[in-house]
Amino acid sequence: MTNNIAEALKSAYNAITEFQTKQQLSQQSRLIAVSKTKPASSVAAAYQAGQRAFGENYVQELVSKATELQQLADIEWHFIGPIQSNKTKDIAQYADWVHSIERLKIAERLAAQRPADKAPLRVLLQINISAEESKSGIKPDELLPLAAAVAKLPQLQLKGLMAIPQPGNSAEAFEQMQKLSLQLQQHYPDAKELSMGMSDDWQQALRFGSTMIRLGTAIFGARETHSDDR
Ligand SMILES: *Cc1c(COP(=O)(O)O)cnc(C)c1O
Repeated sequence: MTNNIAEALKSAYNAITEFQTKQQLSQQSRLIAVSKTKPASSVAAAYQAGQRAFGENYVQELVSKATELQQLADIEWHFIGPIQSNKTKDIAQYADWVHSIERLKIAERLAAQRPADKAPLRVLLQINISAEESKSGIKPDELLPLAAAVAKLPQLQLKGLMAIPQPGNSAEAFEQMQKLSLQLQQHYPDAKELSMGMSDDWQQALRFGSTMIRLGTAIFGARETHSDDR
């Protein structure tokens, strides 16, 4: 298992570098290893292989893995799942990044609950780019008002955008996200991060400026299905 994870990481990083070179992409892109549903031992194996950034969708899993692995220096936890308001305290305590901000109320709670002795929580606003009824995220025209409100909050740093396009025609969605990101950066030059691309579509995402690709299956293998997993 340990070896498989190390091997998978190595081949993912190699594939990313090769793709960036071939496409002559200049932006820096980071790989977030999405460890949802996987045990802390798998995260530890990836850490031993040099991986530092991990993505979690479920608050309970974030808390238990972050607690179990707290001795791992400079491990970085990215919360990427839907957020209920009664769960913000744990996220404010344990996450370093939150990719899934879609309501001001949630951002306000995170700001108020972020411990004063920790660095500000870095946040991304989630866009419902495929305009799916059932999906999380704000509409593109809600972006600037939400960004303005979030940027004022203490203990939060607005760092950019995130999206989970519908599988299939994601290229168009990624292109729209790139435009929105440039628009956001005109107002907030530090909000450069663009979290998009998963195991099946990361190449497309990189072509359209993704700075954070979130790979689960490609690193840790297939998941047991979770209730709200697709
Ligand atoms: C599960 C998940 C991923 C990783 O998906 P894979 O297809 O396994 O790479 C990325 N982002 C989010 C928001 C997820 O929920």
